[in-house]
Amino acid sequence: MRVPGAALSRFFFSLAVMNNSNCYHCGQPVPAGVDLEVGIDGQPRAMCCGGCQAVAQAIVANGLADYYHNRESRLW
Ligand SMILES: [Zn+2]
Repeated sequence: MRVPGAALSRFFFSLAVMNNSNCYHCGQPVPAGVDLEVGIDGQPRAMCCGGCQAVAQAIVANGLADYYHNRESRLW
């Protein structure tokens, strides 16, 4: 199985400066004019699209926000 493009983009994202203009869920740059947020750990997190917003909301709603914690501890 090949390395999925998403994993590759996540790798480059981890090299980039973390800022609010990247989607908190997938790490892609948030397009200009998109203003979507999901409250995670009491912080408003930027989302790049309605799809990421819906998934992030579902993750939080199901008490799975640890997904983000685990992911961050792997990245950093
Ligand atoms: Zn996204």
